[in-house]
Amino acid sequence: MVFKLLAVVIILFLVYLVFFKRDREKEIKKMNKKEDKKLEAIMEECPKCKIFVAKDDAIISNGKYYCSKECL
Ligand SMILES: [Zn+2]
Repeated sequence: MVFKLLAVVIILFLVYLVFFKRDREKEIKKMNKKEDKKLEAIMEECPKCKIFVAKDDAIISNGKYYCSKECL
């Protein structure tokens, strides 16, 4: 009887571990996606020198983001 109980506890623990691991992986994937989107939202590639610039620092011309006046 004790062994049966122990077996059930171990199985439940294993199931818990599997689900927990899956959830963690999902969460990590979600977080990575979020980070990518965030980065894309902030950074833009300069069409001339291919350097990524923050939209806040970029010079916008014709809907494109330039890193500096020289690239304009
Ligand atoms: Zn540039």
